[in-house]
Amino acid sequence: SEVSNTDKPSWQLLYTSYVHMCSPLRSGDNLLPIPLYQLPATFNGDHKRIIKWQTEWQACDELQMAAATKAEFAALDEITQPDSDLFRRGWDLRGRIEYLTKIPTYYYLYRVGGESLQTELTRPCPRCGSHDWKLEHPLLDMFHFRCEPCRIVSNISWDHQ
Ligand SMILES: [Zn+2]
Repeated sequence: SEVSNTDKPSWQLLYTSYVHMCSPLRSGDNLLPIPLYQLPATFNGDHKRIIKWQTEWQACDELQMAAATKAEFAALDEITQPDSDLFRRGWDLRGRIEYLTKIPTYYYLYRVGGESLQTELTRPCPRCGSHDWKLEHPLLDMFHFRCEPCRIVSNISWDHQ
């Protein structure tokens, strides 16, 4: 077949949205979901944590997509800011998965807003401040930024694409 989620991916990422009900662990080669039961059994204790993280991420995404309210901004911070509780929890789970699978595993940091396409193209990594994370060619036509030390992938703001 043309694609398979049984091939060992060269990298993987935590990625979800309010419309995705499948596993938030995706192959970095084709974005196909990787079922959580395929992870080593030692991850079992973290299943509830990752489902809880996904559920809360999706709730924040749905809220920020809806009408402008005060809550919207708090929800947006949770999915866009590297100092948020959701980031910290998801990033820790990412590290755990990378440790268990020995596959480089990244965290997707959602990006909206920003002044212009020009400022977005020169946006530094929000975690370490490096400008080295801008990719010449976007990965999977989606991720224009990838910081290897920080294990973060991100997009050019959805407002300026
Ligand atoms: Zn970084």
